[in-house]
Amino acid sequence: MKIPLIFKKEFPNTKPYKYIFIHSSECIIDNHELMNLRKENKNKDQLELLKYYWIIQKKNYDLPFHYVVHNVDDDYHVVQYRPIVYHSVYYDKLFKHNQEIIHICLIGDYNIQMATPRLYDVLSYRLLVPLMYTYNINLNRIFLHSEIEKNSKCPGDLFIKQVLYARIQKFLIHR
Ligand SMILES: [Zn+2]
Repeated sequence: MKIPLIFKKEFPNTKPYKYIFIHSSECIIDNHELMNLRKENKNKDQLELLKYYWIIQKKNYDLPFHYVVHNVDDDYHVVQYRPIVYHSVYYDKLFKHNQEIIHICLIGDYNIQMATPRLYDVLSYRLLVPLMYTYNINLNRIFLHSEIEKNSKCPGDLFIKQVLYARIQKFLIHR
């Protein structure tokens, strides 16, 4: 699915990124809606369904995540979505320093599926550690959505922060 690519000059981000927040796709679409979409679109994968829902049905111009990590065959791919110069306007009402937050979405529901060791590794090696170096972000500034918003179950109880921290440490270059 090709979405319109529109460079919006009204809100390029001017603040440096200081935090990284991790979500699952459940954050923007609930199970019931996704099940209905699946019935109508059997050939589309989960990322395509997410784009279809958020951009075509909800009429947003792009996903609210800067990066998406999704399962392809036996591995995970990292895809850049929202251009990094745009903060995620959708989360403005939820998070106080939203203009300083890079948002990452893991496709799936980690309240019912266990995050795999390979997911933690790909997320850490291909995305988190490079972002930490690029934007000078410390480990203690990486958060799960549920750590900040107490009513949230995003990205899910089966995505474990301690496991993620251990995987990130593995890939950090200690000088
Ligand atoms: Zn979330």
